[in-house]
Amino acid sequence: MIPIALPFLGTDEADAAREAVLSGWVSQGPQVLAFEREFAATVGASYATAVSNCTTALHLALVAANIGPGDEVITASHSFIATANCIKYCGGTPVFVDVDPDTYNIDPARVAEAITPRTRAILAVHQMGMPCDLTALRTLAEQHGLILIEDAACAAGSEIHIDGKWDRVGKAHGHITCFSFHPRKVITTGEGGMLTTSSAEFDRKFKLLRQHGMSVPDTVRHGSAQVIFEDYLEVGYNYRMTDMQAAIGRKQLGKLPDIISRRRKLADGYAELLGNIEGLRLPFEPEWARSNWQSYCVRLPDRADQRTVMQSMLDQGIATRRGIMCSHREMPYRDQVKHDLTQSELAQDRCILLPLYAQMTEDDQVRVADTLTKELKRLS
Ligand SMILES: *Cc1c(COP(=O)(O)O)cnc(C)c1O
Repeated sequence: MIPIALPFLGTDEADAAREAVLSGWVSQGPQVLAFEREFAATVGASYATAVSNCTTALHLALVAANIGPGDEVITASHSFIATANCIKYCGGTPVFVDVDPDTYNIDPARVAEAITPRTRAILAVHQMGMPCDLTALRTLAEQHGLILIEDAACAAGSEIHIDGKWDRVGKAHGHITCFSFHPRKVITTGEGGMLTTSSAEFDRKFKLLRQHGMSVPDTVRHGSAQVIFEDYLEVGYNYRMTDMQAAIGRKQLGKLPDIISRRRKLADGYAELLGNIEGLRLPFEPEWARSNWQSYCVRLPDRADQRTVMQSMLDQGIATRRGIMCSHREMPYRDQVKHDLTQSELAQDRCILLPLYAQMTEDDQVRVADTLTKELKRLS
């Protein structure tokens, strides 16, 4: 069986977790602090805050941006449902706009049309690790005084050409960027998330809100020779990452360049193996974007039924997934459609994701490509 994805974990991560356990400090502590510093340095951000997952990261980003009832946040429906849910957590209204059919990312022209006097923020997704058009989105945000938040759950290590140079996603080209370390993403801590920003004020808020609004963190109280009484400055949350997770994350971060070069090689491999199939549309990487290939998404020819292709591949031992979901088709969001979402629906219904993971062998990749090629021939 060839899986859709596999985390790239080994004895390094197991040993690091073991050391954290034996250190006697297992909740948020020195490993989390070190992971934050190393992550910030990796993406070129001024500040980083580790949290329990990307959903809580997105929630804190919107709380820090003061999103509340009556506020509209423009975002993609074509994303994992957590993107829309975090807007609802704050009482805000998600305003879904369509994606570009080539990149599956939010279309800045559609964003511009959806701005109203109630719009407070743009929540842009770097879908499947492909950077979205931040240059255009940032201009829109500046023109209209909006907060730009990046859902970079899938985009650790992805690169974007902006301001005349190549940067990693998360330098906070917008105001706040949120990452996930779920096993389905390119580096993992089991569960985990990170917020990056260039604003000291946002960073202070994230660090306060992730641990109950506590004025003095327990790490500081433990290390102090003086008795310290803490205050609780506002209603916060418990969104902490553990030191075991952070210890694993530091090892994963060290492997990120290797993981990405392996993934890029596999993406090139698919492009070569599948490049000549009539009607099959391969992923498009704009010249200003370098994906980390968190997912490899192909659009099926019109003649091929999505479920038929996926079932046949599964029968032959190959896992696939359909295109990314559309939140507006799910129960909580069905009555919230204001703008055309045709491309989002087509992307969900006409695309499939192919297996891609750092340790995938060339033989396995050839098997996936051959199986898909034969299946599409059979259906022609
Ligand atoms: C995975 C994902 C999330 C949620 O991340 P968690 O760490 O699982 O909370 C949010 N947005 C997008 C686009 C994702 O792919």
